[in-house]
Amino acid sequence: MESIKRNVLLNPGPSTTTDTVKYAQVVPDICPREKEFGKLMKGLREDLVRIVHGDPGKYTSVLFCGSGTINIDVCINSLLPEGKKVLVVNNGAYSTRAVEICRYYNLPHIDLQFPVDEIPDLKKVEEVLRENPDIALVHTTHNETGTGILNPIREIGALAHKYGAVFTVDTTSTYAMRPINIEEDNIDFCMASAQKGLMAFTGLSFVVGNRAIIEKSKDYPKRSYYCNLYLQYDFFERTGEMHFTPPVQTIYATLQALKEYREEGEEAKWARHTRVFDAINEGLDELGFKQVIKPELRAGLVSSAIYPDDENWSFEKVHDYCYERGFTIYPGKISTTNTFRLCALGAIDESDIKDFFVVFKEALENTGVQIPVRYND
Ligand SMILES: *Cc1c(COP(=O)(O)O)cnc(C)c1O
Repeated sequence: MESIKRNVLLNPGPSTTTDTVKYAQVVPDICPREKEFGKLMKGLREDLVRIVHGDPGKYTSVLFCGSGTINIDVCINSLLPEGKKVLVVNNGAYSTRAVEICRYYNLPHIDLQFPVDEIPDLKKVEEVLRENPDIALVHTTHNETGTGILNPIREIGALAHKYGAVFTVDTTSTYAMRPINIEEDNIDFCMASAQKGLMAFTGLSFVVGNRAIIEKSKDYPKRSYYCNLYLQYDFFERTGEMHFTPPVQTIYATLQALKEYREEGEEAKWARHTRVFDAINEGLDELGFKQVIKPELRAGLVSSAIYPDDENWSFEKVHDYCYERGFTIYPGKISTTNTFRLCALGAIDESDIKDFFVVFKEALENTGVQIPVRYND
């Protein structure tokens, strides 16, 4: 097996993958309607539930062909009964995406906004739930990838359940990284994509959630033909297949990635991501970079650094310098502050971050940015 040029991706997914996962895509051509392929998908669906420690009798997973956003679309448009309302607990770009989905489907919703660098005020969340008994679905994001803040999902989930609502959580940037226990964390539905925590490829996304609630949603309005949770679930249960063509090669890669996930182990993998994250923060601190999220509120996977007040600072130039040397850095996603992000996803370790900061520091020096970086205030 020839090794493939290794790039260290510090963007928030897709992530750096192992060569064994890359090569797992190279398989004999197969029609995904064959029984052999159906068997693979059945095992895959069960493994995806296992990652969040779900009881297989109570929880199931449903696969979709698409990027991670398809999961948010599916959950929101499929799990809202007629005449009911969605509450989005929103402190960042990814929860805002859920609000836009509500808007596009014309769903009654409340966009409960909080500052991007603060965790949601649970008293306000409860107040809104108490005043709006027609809220049937509460949605939020676990790790707001736009900033890297960790939201208190267990507490928000407890409130949702206290007021009889279903709780959906966008766990795309924590699943298979930061340990999740679907039941203890009060999650009814969580979601992810193969290219993030699982360290496989784009094209396969999935929702893991409560089987009884999916079955109940059979009678809810069907607002999308392609992106309906019950229809896809039902097709899987009856035939073992995806309703329409699955991302065949990505599924093979994901099976290999799951094997490597089990070999590494949940705890060891999280410890590795933590090592990488600590190295990122250490490197940023040494260069004098300020960050948006206070250390105690960080989810441990995404660092959001603020642009220095230096006339020579150019994200583009620094990005290009690093990119040419195999390291990818990523712009921020906050409308009010100019930031860039460094993420601890993927098949990378502390030593990659050490190597990265050598290059990053060179990039700053070469473009004439003063070190340590300066801020006006
Ligand atoms: C990556 C990500 C998504 C999905 O983004 P796509 O570009 O559609 O893959 C959704 N939510 C969160 C929190 C993410 O980090």
